[in-house]
Amino acid sequence: MNKTLIYIAENFAEAHMIQANLNDIGINAILSGEHLTSALGELPAHILFTRIYVEQKDYSNAKKYINQYKQAQKKSVKKELSYWKCFNCNELIPENFTNCWQCNMEYKQ
Ligand SMILES: [Zn+2]
Repeated sequence: MNKTLIYIAENFAEAHMIQANLNDIGINAILSGEHLTSALGELPAHILFTRIYVEQKDYSNAKKYINQYKQAQKKSVKKELSYWKCFNCNELIPENFTNCWQCNMEYKQ
Protein backbone atom coordinates (compact mmCIF):
# COMPACT_ATOMS: atom_id res chain seq x y z
CA MET A 1 0.00 0.00 0.00
CA ASN A 2 1.52 3.27 -1.11
CA LYS A 3 1.21 6.23 1.18
CA THR A 4 1.51 9.71 -0.24
CA LEU A 5 2.18 12.89 1.67
CA ILE A 6 -0.82 15.18 1.24
CA TYR A 7 -0.28 17.96 3.76
CA ILE A 8 2.02 19.15 6.53
CA ALA A 9 -0.04 20.58 9.35
CA GLU A 10 1.18 23.34 11.61
CA ASN A 11 0.15 21.55 14.76
CA PHE A 12 -1.59 18.46 16.05
CA ALA A 13 -4.95 20.15 16.43
CA GLU A 14 -4.92 21.04 12.74
CA ALA A 15 -3.63 17.62 11.73
CA HIS A 16 -6.33 15.83 13.71
CA MET A 17 -9.04 18.09 12.33
CA ILE A 18 -7.94 17.40 8.74
CA GLN A 19 -7.68 13.68 9.47
CA ALA A 20 -11.23 13.68 10.86
CA ASN A 21 -12.54 15.62 7.86
CA LEU A 22 -10.84 13.25 5.43
CA ASN A 23 -12.30 10.28 7.31
CA ASP A 24 -15.72 11.89 6.94
CA ILE A 25 -15.39 11.86 3.16
CA GLY A 26 -14.22 8.26 3.23
CA ILE A 27 -10.49 8.76 3.03
CA ASN A 28 -8.19 6.97 5.41
CA ALA A 29 -5.61 9.53 6.51
CA ILE A 30 -2.54 8.62 8.51
CA LEU A 31 -0.65 11.07 10.69
CA SER A 32 3.04 10.84 11.26
CA GLY A 33 5.16 12.67 13.76
CA GLU A 34 2.82 12.02 16.65
CA HIS A 35 5.39 9.89 18.44
CA LEU A 36 7.59 12.98 18.65
CA THR A 37 5.27 14.68 21.11
CA SER A 38 5.38 11.90 23.64
CA ALA A 39 9.13 11.52 23.17
CA LEU A 40 9.78 15.22 23.58
CA GLY A 41 7.15 15.62 26.26
CA GLU A 42 7.46 19.19 27.38
CA LEU A 43 7.93 20.85 24.02
CA PRO A 44 4.98 22.95 22.88
CA ALA A 45 3.01 21.11 20.22
CA HIS A 46 2.82 24.10 17.92
CA ILE A 47 6.49 23.91 16.99
CA LEU A 48 6.08 20.34 15.73
CA PHE A 49 4.86 19.68 12.25
CA THR A 50 2.60 16.78 11.53
CA ARG A 51 2.59 15.06 8.20
CA ILE A 52 -0.65 13.71 6.80
CA TYR A 53 -0.51 10.74 4.44
CA VAL A 54 -3.21 9.16 2.34
CA GLU A 55 -3.29 6.08 0.16
CA GLN A 56 -2.36 6.59 -3.47
CA LYS A 57 -5.90 5.76 -4.64
CA ASP A 58 -7.35 8.52 -2.43
CA TYR A 59 -4.77 11.12 -3.40
CA SER A 60 -6.81 13.13 -5.91
CA ASN A 61 -9.90 13.33 -3.67
CA ALA A 62 -7.79 14.21 -0.67
CA LYS A 63 -5.99 16.87 -2.69
CA LYS A 64 -9.34 18.45 -3.59
CA TYR A 65 -10.22 18.68 0.07
CA ILE A 66 -6.81 20.11 0.95
CA ASN A 67 -7.11 22.77 -1.74
CA GLN A 68 -10.52 23.81 -0.43
CA TYR A 69 -9.14 23.83 3.08
CA LYS A 70 -6.24 26.07 2.05
CA GLN A 71 -8.62 28.47 0.31
CA ALA A 72 -10.73 28.69 3.45
CA GLN A 73 -7.60 29.31 5.53
CA LYS A 74 -6.53 32.15 3.25
CA LYS A 75 -9.95 33.76 3.51
CA SER A 76 -10.02 33.59 7.28
CA VAL A 77 -6.54 35.11 7.52
CA LYS A 78 -7.61 37.92 5.22
CA LYS A 79 -10.68 38.53 7.35
CA GLU A 80 -8.60 38.86 10.50
CA LEU A 81 -6.34 41.43 8.88
CA SER A 82 -9.12 43.63 7.60
CA TYR A 83 -10.60 44.66 10.93
CA TRP A 84 -10.08 47.94 12.68
CA LYS A 85 -10.49 48.56 16.37
CA CYS A 86 -12.84 51.26 17.56
CA PHE A 87 -10.82 53.65 19.73
CA ASN A 88 -13.93 54.48 21.73
CA CYS A 89 -15.30 51.06 22.67
CA ASN A 90 -12.58 48.68 21.41
CA GLU A 91 -15.03 46.78 19.21
CA LEU A 92 -13.48 45.10 16.15
CA ILE A 93 -15.07 46.42 12.98
CA PRO A 94 -14.66 45.08 9.43
CA GLU A 95 -12.70 47.36 7.14
CA ASN A 96 -15.68 48.09 4.89
CA PHE A 97 -17.55 49.80 7.74
CA THR A 98 -16.68 53.45 8.24
CA ASN A 99 -18.44 53.72 11.59
CA CYS A 100 -18.38 51.51 14.66
CA TRP A 101 -21.50 49.35 14.73
CA GLN A 102 -21.58 49.48 18.49
CA CYS A 103 -21.14 53.15 19.36
CA ASN A 104 -21.29 54.66 15.86
CA MET A 105 -17.93 56.36 16.32
CA GLU A 106 -16.30 57.24 13.01
CA TYR A 107 -13.13 55.39 12.06
CA LYS A 108 -9.96 57.43 12.58
CA GLN A 109 -6.39 56.36 11.96
ZN1 LIG B 1 -17.17 51.83 19.04
